[in-house]
Amino acid sequence: MDRGELQALLGEGVSLAEIGRRHDLHESTVGYWVKKHGLKAARREKHAARGALQREHLETLVEEGKTIAEIAEAVDRSHATVRHWLREYGLRTQRARNIAQQTREKRVLRRCARHGLTEFQRREPGGYRCLKCRSEAVSRRRRLVKQLLVQEAGGACRICGYDRCARALHFHHVDPEHKRFNLSLRGVTRSLERARAEAQKCILLCGNCQAEVEEGLIDLGL
Ligand SMILES: [Zn+2]
Ligand SMILES: [Zn+2]
Repeated sequence: MDRGELQALLGEGVSLAEIGRRHDLHESTVGYWVKKHGLKAARREKHAARGALQREHLETLVEEGKTIAEIAEAVDRSHATVRHWLREYGLRTQRARNIAQQTREKRVLRRCARHGLTEFQRREPGGYRCLKCRSEAVSRRRRLVKQLLVQEAGGACRICGYDRCARALHFHHVDPEHKRFNLSLRGVTRSLERARAEAQKCILLCGNCQAEVEEGLIDLGL
């Protein structure tokens, strides 16, 4: 499993069991990767510190139509903890279900010149957009932003000079304490300015050199 992605999920408080479900892996396999990447399932410990919230109790509150804030009040725990356990049990508040419903209602089947008969989403000012075209546009933008940032960072691995394939180049955070998001991944869909600010805290490394740095075989001497 990719370190950046795993770190992001753990940061959101997603449990190992839930990460396993999403990636079709056993919880213990996820645990292995957490350890291998030197990460900690800290948020889970935090949410579990005062004991798990009871499923039946949460179900009742959800059925009563209570919001996250109202549930948090009723069980005397934080919003984040309530969200964590709702996710853990696959429960959603009435409000969350309504929003999901409204999103579904905005979707219709139409014919796209590129993708044929497929789902479109109604847009606010009017008109419809093919969801496949939209997600391709996001990927395209992601690649372009990364290309630009790679160029700005010198275009090659700082250690060995590798420069053949941008996909094999990674933004390695010089100070892992300040790592906010993984630039090689979804981070680049954030605004260019924020992605650029983040890139400036990094050096460009190819996959091989990055692995050697993480294993302690190369000392960056920074
Ligand atoms: Zn399309
Ligand atoms: Zn290299």
